[in-house]
Amino acid sequence: MEKQTLPAYQNIRLPLLAEKNVHLQIKRLDVLHPEIQGNKYYKLLYNIRAAKEKGCTGILTFGGAFSNHVHATAISAAQNELAAIAMIRGEIPQPLNPTLADAAGHGMQLYPMSRAAYREKEDPKVLEQLQNRFGNVYVIPEGGTNALAIKGTSQILNTLDTEKDILALPVGTGGTFAGLLASAHSRQLLLGFSVLKGEFIHAEINRLLETNQIRPRCSWQIQTSYHFGGYAKFTPELIAFIKEMKNDYALPLDPVYTGKMLFGLLDMVSRDRFKRGTRILAIHTGGLQGIRGFNQRFGTGI
Ligand SMILES: *Cc1c(COP(=O)(O)O)cnc(C)c1O
Repeated sequence: MEKQTLPAYQNIRLPLLAEKNVHLQIKRLDVLHPEIQGNKYYKLLYNIRAAKEKGCTGILTFGGAFSNHVHATAISAAQNELAAIAMIRGEIPQPLNPTLADAAGHGMQLYPMSRAAYREKEDPKVLEQLQNRFGNVYVIPEGGTNALAIKGTSQILNTLDTEKDILALPVGTGGTFAGLLASAHSRQLLLGFSVLKGEFIHAEINRLLETNQIRPRCSWQIQTSYHFGGYAKFTPELIAFIKEMKNDYALPLDPVYTGKMLFGLLDMVSRDRFKRGTRILAIHTGGLQGIRGFNQRFGTGI
């Protein structure tokens, strides 16, 4: 997986930001690579290498029917001449939705997994059965978070980025957040926006830190009140915000991750949660491929 373009930085000039004297820049990981967007590029980088080094014939992974991770895995496996297999939670929609159609178009084999079986997918016995069924495949967990993924996401930041006071990003499984915890500067605050409902994410981050022996130098915080009802849930206000950012500020956001993060961040700005003069770098983690399926399902017209 060769890097094809450098991540772009985009300054956002909203009246609210000027009024509060908060500087906001977006690190556009969504333009990092023409097809493999955002944090998933970094999460896959060392996993693909490991699969090749181990002589595996392919990659096997898991995800929902709209998964950015499944999409990215299909493309990077194809580019690396590895077979790709995805176990899809629940039914496989027919005709395939845009995410799965892209994945299948890159040669990925898709298999449905009942929701009950899907819940058992980390069970060593289930993994063994899959290995027996599919042969010498390299297994990557749902969402792609493992030790090598965290090693990959710890390379998202560069020296320019360490000049910022706050680094903001959306949080799903926490793998990307953990990689940034491993690499952010001691002066910085890492500010996560959980897209899943609940408080479990705090314990999950602590678990990831412990199992990967990460001792962050920076401080961190995860907001849990900007999930808009839960994973892939939304409100008309969120959709209107995403359209405004796209049309008025040339910033495309996805409704599952980056839209919620930026909405939350600006809401915090409006509530004076940041000192005047604060410099924020928000990480655009990608996910734009999912917009097509989202619009098809909900008629949101993003
Ligand atoms: C997967 C994903 C995330 C969440 O990453 P985690 O490492 O699971 O926390 C955030 N943004 C986008 C666009 C994603 O696809």
